Amino acid sequence: MTKTDLTLFRERLLALRARLRGDITQMEDNALNKDHDKTTSMPNHMAELGSGNFDQDLTLSLVGAENDALDQIEAAIERIEDGSYGQCDECGGKIPTARLEAIPYAALCVRCASQVEEDGP
Ligand SMILES: [Zn+2]
Repeated sequence: MTKTDLTLFRERLLALRARLRGDITQMEDNALNKDHDKTTSMPNHMAELGSGNFDQDLTLSLVGAENDALDQIEAAIERIEDGSYGQCDECGGKIPTARLEAIPYAALCVRCASQVEEDGP
């Protein structure tokens, strides 16, 4: 992988991280402050039906998934810094550039990633 490629992927990862961080902050605010928000246009009877709690659980679990992505993005940025970016974490093989373009924070090559999926967590 060339230095230009690395710079490009680094920029994409940094942009992705910034966007995710922004989204997470906004989502957490929405979920946690919903009940205290006096300016909300949501009718009161919606909360009485219990749908408010459901929304909150759903939003917070989405935040959990995005935090995982954030961890992976952080790790990918570290790999760019230490020069191991584009190398499979599992077998040390080369991760195809096309895969990195689709998932810039991919840590595994296609083969290892599909093995992990087969084996389960
Ligand atoms: Zn691999």
